[in-house]
Amino acid sequence: MEPHTRNHGSHAVVVGAGLGGLAAAVRLRHRGFRVTVLERHAQPGGRCGIWESGGFRFDTGPTLLLMVEYLRALFDEIGRPMEAYLSLVQLDPNYRVHYADGSTLDVTSRINAMLEGVERVEPGSGPRFLRFLADTSRLYRIGLDGFVDRNVHRRGDFFSLKNLGLLVRGRAMEQLQRMVGRYFRSDKLRHTFSFQSLYLGLSPFDSPAIYGLLPYTEVAGGLYFPMGGMHALPRALARLGGELGVTFRYGADVAHIERGEREVAGVVLADGTRIAADLVLANADLPYVYQTLLQEPYPRIDRLAFSCSAFLMYLGVGRRYPNLPHHTLVVPADLRTTCGDIFERHRIPADPAFYICNPNKTDPALAPPGSENIYVLVPVPNQTPGREIDWSVEGPRLEAATLQRLEHFGLTDLRQHLVTKRTFTPEDFGASFSATRLEAFGLAHGIDQVGYFRPHNRHPVYENLYFVGQSTHPGCGIPMVLISSRLVAERIAAERAAVR
Ligand SMILES: Cc1cc2nc3c(=O)[nH]c(=O)nc-3n(C[C@H](O)[C@H](O)[C@H](O)COP(=O)(O)OP(=O)(O)OC[C@H]3O[C@@H](n4cnc5c(N)ncnc54)[C@H](O)[C@@H]3O)c2cc1C
Repeated sequence: MEPHTRNHGSHAVVVGAGLGGLAAAVRLRHRGFRVTVLERHAQPGGRCGIWESGGFRFDTGPTLLLMVEYLRALFDEIGRPMEAYLSLVQLDPNYRVHYADGSTLDVTSRINAMLEGVERVEPGSGPRFLRFLADTSRLYRIGLDGFVDRNVHRRGDFFSLKNLGLLVRGRAMEQLQRMVGRYFRSDKLRHTFSFQSLYLGLSPFDSPAIYGLLPYTEVAGGLYFPMGGMHALPRALARLGGELGVTFRYGADVAHIERGEREVAGVVLADGTRIAADLVLANADLPYVYQTLLQEPYPRIDRLAFSCSAFLMYLGVGRRYPNLPHHTLVVPADLRTTCGDIFERHRIPADPAFYICNPNKTDPALAPPGSENIYVLVPVPNQTPGREIDWSVEGPRLEAATLQRLEHFGLTDLRQHLVTKRTFTPEDFGASFSATRLEAFGLAHGIDQVGYFRPHNRHPVYENLYFVGQSTHPGCGIPMVLISSRLVAERIAAERAAVR
């Protein structure tokens, strides 16, 4: 299908080739805009990056692909078959949860296996698990239809009586722990069905029940993996954009956005090159765009909450661990204290939770024969003023402790078999992505920072400066930034057509 012609000639400059920027570029091009994407790094993907070393390929950021209907919707909108660009496989199990006493639960989308699993962990919980799924499916519909999957920058769209009624009836605003506590008696299952708020960089002990929709999406929708690794996603979008006529410039670091009175005129690169634009769509982190590219801090930035950060290790290992599945979540003995350390006391937890990804279980081409490419993520605090963590000191310590924990967990002789290794600390989120508080997942997703309360996807003064990605509506995560790209493209098309 050819791009619509109505907006032909209008030049949209997209700052950043993260998944949000790429998807928005594709959508704008399809609507007839002339689109240039400027990316400071040498490759597309942003946080969904890749690191290759010694025959190992590591995805550097996201590893769990959920809600694939939003990916398919993008290809459907353009009129191209997704299968021509991506080869997705559904995982089974979705992931293994490993508890402190050594027991495990395989979370899967096969309901019979799930019932068996939860009954083993907590006898009698099977019927309550089914009720949990049914009730969280309602939360999913409330969340998606009412608040996430539409533009909510007008007060009336967000605070409608219908929406408030939905929230009250769905008990969406009560504490997440209180909600899971109604279905499950054991901490094990309570944690298994609430830890997912950590995907948003939010403590499961300080989250509203609406985020119970996350475990529902995993079980009901399944977990997928793109063959070739997660980085196949931005590659596919960049290819699609290229085929539609989007211009990509890598190694193009935008130094500032040129402001007029009510509009922006274009951008200036670090090397001094000026690029004129009819509209600028910023995919880079929004607080940084305000602070650095516009030279005006985001209003009340000091009062905004940021998500937690992540300490990452990419380990090429010259041996196999046959029992290690694609995804493993290791829950510490006292998850509440671990989360308290991260979110309240702002210190590296003494007994951290960690997550291990071993994607060559699904795609053996990602590691040399007889080897494993292991990715480890440890949730850690963001950089909070007055409670700073010196990562040049703490990074090597946490690395050594994590390697030891991994061996204790069951990755026998890991250190002996390391072929290649890289760590990525919160400092690197600052250096690579200009993350304001060295956070991994952007602005926090407390109820006071989502929907109408999240920074809107258009600047309040500059009418042709728009935002896409995790720091604007609806928030963090691959499905969310894909939704963000559709919402902003729809808004641009409506508003820019209106001024023409
Ligand atoms: C460690 C980690 C694990 C995650 N796990 C998952 C997961 O399993 N599943 C999931 O769904 N989500 C996950 N997420 C979240 C998900 O990866 C992000 O929400 C999403 O990729 C963000 O996309 P984005 O388009 O908003 O921005 P980004 O990926 O941050 O892209 C922004 C782009 O802007 C570029 N840029 C910045 N400044 C400039 C400038 N001045 N000039 C030019 N370019 C610039 C950057 O280089 C970058 O490429 C994870 C995130 C992290 C960090």
